[in-house]
Amino acid sequence: MIGAPGAGKTMLSRRLPTILPPLTSSESLETTRIYSALGRLKADEPLLATRPFRDPHHTISDAGMVGGGNPPAPGEISLAHHGVLFLDELPEFHRRSLEVLRQPLEHGHVTISRALASTTFPASFILVASMNPCPCGYLGDPRHACKCSPMQIERYMARISGPLLDRIDLHIEVPAVPFQELSASSDGTSSATMREQVGRARRAQQRRFGSHGPALNGRMTSRQLRKHCALDEEGKALLKNAMDDLGLSARAHDRILRMARTIADLEGCENLRQAHVVEAINYRTLDRKLWAR
Ligand SMILES: [Zn+2]
Repeated sequence: MIGAPGAGKTMLSRRLPTILPPLTSSESLETTRIYSALGRLKADEPLLATRPFRDPHHTISDAGMVGGGNPPAPGEISLAHHGVLFLDELPEFHRRSLEVLRQPLEHGHVTISRALASTTFPASFILVASMNPCPCGYLGDPRHACKCSPMQIERYMARISGPLLDRIDLHIEVPAVPFQELSASSDGTSSATMREQVGRARRAQQRRFGSHGPALNGRMTSRQLRKHCALDEEGKALLKNAMDDLGLSARAHDRILRMARTIADLEGCENLRQAHVVEAINYRTLDRKLWAR
């Protein structure tokens, strides 16, 4: 999420677990085991009942992020297993503690290698990150003037590496909403309604893959991708043009298709339509921004 300070990025992220389906009992057991191993279970909560939300500070080390030590102990990404890992002010994090996220984001687990043995911890989480549009935070804000030079803005954007950005499916701009507007519009979609929509989309995915397949579109293999995200000729041409225009990688190409599949599932559509692909491409604003430099 890109937006000025006070736009509500942190608040939105904290709400994310409330629109995800409740933890299943096996998910709860897996996550509880991690908290238990670290002695972090609360006395009155022997089994985790809600999806974890972790928001480590940007000064965190790479070992604190993915796990480390001897013997290896799980890090923040495992504490966020089946939940949400929120990185506020993404460009402020040490480059190293972001780079180590790449493997777990792909695989849903992390392996820590030591001379004598290696240990694998589960780490399947939704990564949410926030950043300001520029160092001062006010670029594009009609009510404040941005004080940053183009050079400063470029350096700030460059702190997020392309390979990490590649693995983030949705880039959204969060405009600062004036307070009156926030309090006046009380008729937005509630978390409960959104949770129902998410549940419906997940059930569609379970029907598609069956009990032995991946649970979610995001985990489709390339063979499943070809089968379940088939595009007509026009759709293929559209995606190819976007790839060329934005300079997207093959990884981003597949991620756009997985995202389009999820958008279609949220709408209850069996077949992928061009509109779904267009929407998925539009969520890659940062690729566009970086490309425009
Ligand atoms: Zn600025």
